[in-house]
Formats: sequence, structure tokens, C-alpha cells
Amino acid sequence: MSRVLVIGCGGVASVAIHKICQVSDVFTDLCIASRTVSKCDVLAEELKGNTKTNITTANVDADNTDEVIALINKFKPDVVLNVALPYQDLTIMDACLACKVPYVDTANYECEDTDNPEWRKVYEERCKRLGFTAYFDYSWQWAYREKYKEAGITGLLGTGFDPGVTSVFTAYAQKHYFDEIHTIDILDCNGGDHGYPFATNFNPEINLREVSAPGSYWEDGHWVEIPPMSIKREYDFEGVGMKDMYLLHHEEIEALAANIPHVKRIRFFMTFGQSYLTHMKCLENVGMLRTDPVEFNGQQIVPIQFLKALLPDPASLGPRTVGKTNIGCIFTGIKDGKERKIYIYNVCDHQECYREVGSQAISYTTGVPAMIGTMLVAKGIWNKPGVFTTDEFDPDPYMDALNKYGLPWKVDENPVLVD
Ligand code: NDP
Repeated sequence: MSRVLVIGCGGVASVAIHKICQVSDVFTDLCIASRTVSKCDVLAEELKGNTKTNITTANVDADNTDEVIALINKFKPDVVLNVALPYQDLTIMDACLACKVPYVDTANYECEDTDNPEWRKVYEERCKRLGFTAYFDYSWQWAYREKYKEAGITGLLGTGFDPGVTSVFTAYAQKHYFDEIHTIDILDCNGGDHGYPFATNFNPEINLREVSAPGSYWEDGHWVEIPPMSIKREYDFEGVGMKDMYLLHHEEIEALAANIPHVKRIRFFMTFGQSYLTHMKCLENVGMLRTDPVEFNGQQIVPIQFLKALLPDPASLGPRTVGKTNIGCIFTGIKDGKERKIYIYNVCDHQECYREVGSQAISYTTGVPAMIGTMLVAKGIWNKPGVFTTDEFDPDPYMDALNKYGLPWKVDENPVLVD
């Protein structure tokens, strides 16, 4: 019996909202709020009649904390799920804090304007101190830990697939399979084909900023940063086959390095086809990935935002994408004095996702865990005042929910390791 406010109504939100509406006994009331309320209205109309959840919609600019506070005061949610963009994390966290309502999201804070001098000063100090240059990190949201603790509310960060499920897999491996985890390789494989020469599977701006940045991994207590796409491996993925994958910086590495004792190395690999990489390099070379405004015919245009307007909307890829995703973690370590290795992973089929909720598997594999994290917070099963990532709670109820709500997982106790 709880009321959920979902902020954002894009690809990931659409799946999370479909799933929320499948769990009407928990989510009795839902408000879908976003910058473009017409998108919320279309989705609400599609879902009404197929769910017992009462759905309302609202317009909100989540960059404006006061607007979010006003909406929270009006709707009175028991939990807020932020599936807008990472740019809105802090304003929504502030609003939740002011109203003492639990907060949930799927991606850590990233500053929209990377030329903002105030942000830049903190960022450059952090680059020097920690040794990785990604625009996003947890420090901004971890700074709310004490305030959330004092307010008695839970802040659950990063409950998508990666981050999110990958960190739950780690907590599960730690709880049931290892005395010490020594290495973690997170492998994110998308074997889907949408038929376009170039498109991104989630928000193009966030996706391209992430992929074109230097890679980094955690080893022996510190970060090692490498030029973009400079470490490549091949892996044979169940359901997909042999794929090239590249080492990227990824946000859960930071949380896992802080929270998993004994871990010596954590890496993240994502698969990319050659066509994607060639297009991305070309766009980068001509300046289309720039995030700073340029003057064009008397107007200020941010190239990457203009590119977003040209590229296919990720939400439109659903009907045309065929193939599977395979995302999971390979762990090595020690159990009862003996060396052990396991691989926990999920295989998800793009067309099955489309048939169920009208979205491709990238949005599905993020939106389902967004609902699950929100549900565990709403039910009080994951309830700890403070701000936490998904590896900091009991993984068992989350792992059960993955099986129940569409993302079944497997454990391979003799996986091929990545060299
Ligand atoms: P989309 O671009 O499809 O959707 C973003 C939504 O947020 C849109 O509805 C947009 O509104 C809304 N929005 C943007 N700015 C504001 C604002 N100021 N106020 C209110 N609403 C706003 O993005 P995705 O669905 O692809 O991604 C959503 C989130 O999921 C992102 O944070 C992304 O990083 C994260 N993600 C996490 C993954 C994981 O595994 N952990 C994987 C993939 C994504 P409008 O319609 O007006 O543009």
C-alpha cells in the first residue's frame, strides 16, 4: 500500500512504470511527473484499464528543487524514483530531504555544464586525488549520508542493471560463495541489432559522454586510467556468441572498491561493434560530442544535444531490435581456504521485452531493477537511514525479485576468465 512518485518519462522510466503497474498490491498510487507532461499522459492512458494502480500525471522541472518539493507536498509519495537524468540527482535529493521522503535513482550525479567553475574546482581536485577523470562520481551524493541519516530516510543510489544488479550480484557472491572476493570483472554485452548504422540504446548524451571518456579500473587500492577504448578483449557470451569488449570507467567500481573488503581488482567491460566505434570516433573528431555551447546563426547550440535531436530516440528502437543482452559479473577469490571462481549473469531477449512492455532490453534491464529497488524501499525491506548503493543491503530479496519480475539469473561455477 504505497504511493510512488516517478520523475522522468523516457525509455527507462517507461519500463519502470509498466512494472510498477504490474505490482499494484504494493504500488497503489503512482504519479508520473516529467518536463514534458504530454509523454506522461500518453503512457498513463496506455496503462489505465490494465492495472489497479491509480495513475496521475504532473509537469515538473526537476532542475528546480522548489518545484519538486511542491509536487511532493501535493502528491505525498512514500518514495520518489528519479529516472530523469543524472543532472537532476541533487535537486531531487534536496527535495526528498526537505520533505523526508525516501529517494531512489539509477545513475550517479553528473554535472550538465562541465564548464561551471564551482563544479570544475571540485572535479579537478577529485581527479588529482583519486586518479580518474570521469565527469561522474559518488562524492556528491555520498555527501548527503549524514543528512539522510538524521532525517531518518533511505537514499538508494544506482538501482539499474549496471550499476544496480551488478552490485547486488557482488553482495550475493560475497554472502553465499566467498570468504574473500579478490577480482570482479563486470561484463556488459549487448548483442542486439536495431538495423540503424548508428544509434544509442539509452539517452545519447549520457551514453556518448560515458563511452568516449578514458577508461579506468581499480587495482591494489588505486585507480588506473587508460586512453578511451585502449583495452580490448574477446568473450564468448551465452545467447550472443563471441564479441569484442572494451574496458570502460563505470560508476559501480567506485562503490564496490569502497565496500568489498579484500578486493584487489575491479574492471568493467562493454561490447561494441566496429560500426558504433567508427561513427563515435568520427563524431568526436568533428566536435559533435562537445558539451559546451557554440554560437550558430545567433543561437547557442550544444553539439551533443543537437546530435541527440538527430539520432533515433532510444525509446523507438524497441520494435526493430532483435537479439539478446548478457550482463553479469565474474568473481574470483577464496572459500574455505580454496580458490574459487563464479560468474553470475542474466540473458535478456530484446523482442521478449518489447512484447511485454513495448521497450528494448537496455531500457528493460534498467527499468525492472529500478522498480525492484523502489519496491524494496517502499515495503521497508531495504530500509536504512542514510545514502547507500545496492551492494550495501541484503541481496537475497532483490535476487528473488529479479527472478520473479523478468530478469532471471544463473550462476556458472566454472566460467572462462578474462585475461
Ligand atoms: P531519456 O532521455 O529517455 O529520459 C529522460 C527523461 O527525463 C525524459 O522523460 C525527460 O523529459 C526527463 N527529464 C530530463 N530533464 C528533466 C527535468 N529537468 N525535469 C523533469 N524531467 C526531466 O533517458 P533514459 O530513460 O535512457 O535514462 C534515464 C536514466 O537512467 C538516466 O539517468 C540514465 O543515466 C539511467 N540509466 C541507468 C542505467 C543503469 O543500468 N544503471 C542504464 C541506462 C540508463 P523530456 O521528455 O522532456 O526530455
